[in-house]
Amino acid sequence: MSTIGFIGLGNMGGPMAKNLLNAGHQVKVFDLVEASMASVVAEGGTANKSAADAVRGADLVISMLPASKHVEALYLGDAGLITQLDADTLIIDCSTIAPESARKVAAAAAEAGFDMIDAPVSGGVGGAVGGTLTFMVGGSSKALDIARPLLEIMGKNIFHAGDAGAGQVAKVCNNMLLAVLMTGTAEALQLGVNNGLDPAVLSEIMQKSSGGNWALEVYNPFPGVMPSAPASNDYAGGFLVDLMIKDLGLAMASALETGSSTPMGALARNLYVTHGAKGNGQIDFSSIQTSFQKQ
Ligand code: NAD
Repeated sequence: MSTIGFIGLGNMGGPMAKNLLNAGHQVKVFDLVEASMASVVAEGGTANKSAADAVRGADLVISMLPASKHVEALYLGDAGLITQLDADTLIIDCSTIAPESARKVAAAAAEAGFDMIDAPVSGGVGGAVGGTLTFMVGGSSKALDIARPLLEIMGKNIFHAGDAGAGQVAKVCNNMLLAVLMTGTAEALQLGVNNGLDPAVLSEIMQKSSGGNWALEVYNPFPGVMPSAPASNDYAGGFLVDLMIKDLGLAMASALETGSSTPMGALARNLYVTHGAKGNGQIDFSSIQTSFQKQ
């Protein structure tokens, strides 16, 4: 049994921490939002007044925060967690952040004598609840070997992408492709509906044809086609438009840095930014479907 300091108990971190508790680990938690902490404490987690308190005596620290600035603020600086950890504590950051930000924090950790892996995830809230996430890991094999038993509780696919930051690069590529697939699927469905087709029938045809993709398989963006999908629940919950905009921003920054051509990603980012600016930032990203509807 390990003692884990878990920071950030939102839509993803909350269920991930609960799975660690259910597997018998001791989990010390901290979140800025009291209510998020309470739901994990109700299942056996220990509440803390600060992140520093939560990591005291921990074998491993796991963070699941919104963006780069939150992760850098948590770990770096005079009062950052890196200055508060017990010797030999392993740091696992599961947030989706900029690769260069992950490298910066990992370098500061290494300088202070700590191993760190970036381990962003794919699989959404359903994957976090079910313990079926995919982890994309950057860092040393030695650190991953120590982290693996915990990652296997929270996920079912664990990939070693390369050195520090490589997990974040893999995540950025995946989410850019996801945005392209979701916007493409939404416009194809709307084209069919505008031409008199039933969206459920069209979805089934495309899923079994060369247009088949993950959105059609498990996350159909058209309301009523797939009862379990956010589209059939007013696009509530799921993966927020604001988070997709963040990830597409990370993809564009990576493309600029490396001189990569990403025209499809750039267009998807434009569509999502426009959609988010119309007050849709806090609903599921499959709601891009509504931007193709005739007014
Ligand atoms: P969320 O906003 O629901 O949760 C983030 C939590 O972090 C919040 O509870 C917030 O209060 C807490 N927090 C922020 N700063 C903090 C600090 N300094 N100390 C302690 N707690 C702090 O976000 P989420 O959906 O759980 O996503 C977390 C990360 O996972 C993001 O980087 C996101 O891009 C990524 N991700 C999300 C999904 C998804 O489907 N929601 C899927 C894959 C990856």
